[in-house]
Amino acid sequence: MSNIGGGPYYAEPCPLCGQTLWNGRCENRDCFYHWHPKQDDGEEDDPEDSKGDNE
Ligand SMILES: [Zn+2]
Repeated sequence: MSNIGGGPYYAEPCPLCGQTLWNGRCENRDCFYHWHPKQDDGEEDDPEDSKGDNE
């Protein structure tokens, strides 16, 4: 593993509001990605999130 940037945080521009995503979490509290951090691991579906949503 190589440590690029010297920090554990990965920042990128938010595709929704244009502010900064920190590890997939937007710094904008009004943004969707602030409450639902974007996963960049290729796993977009969260099996735990769909459980118990059927009642
Ligand atoms: Zn955002």
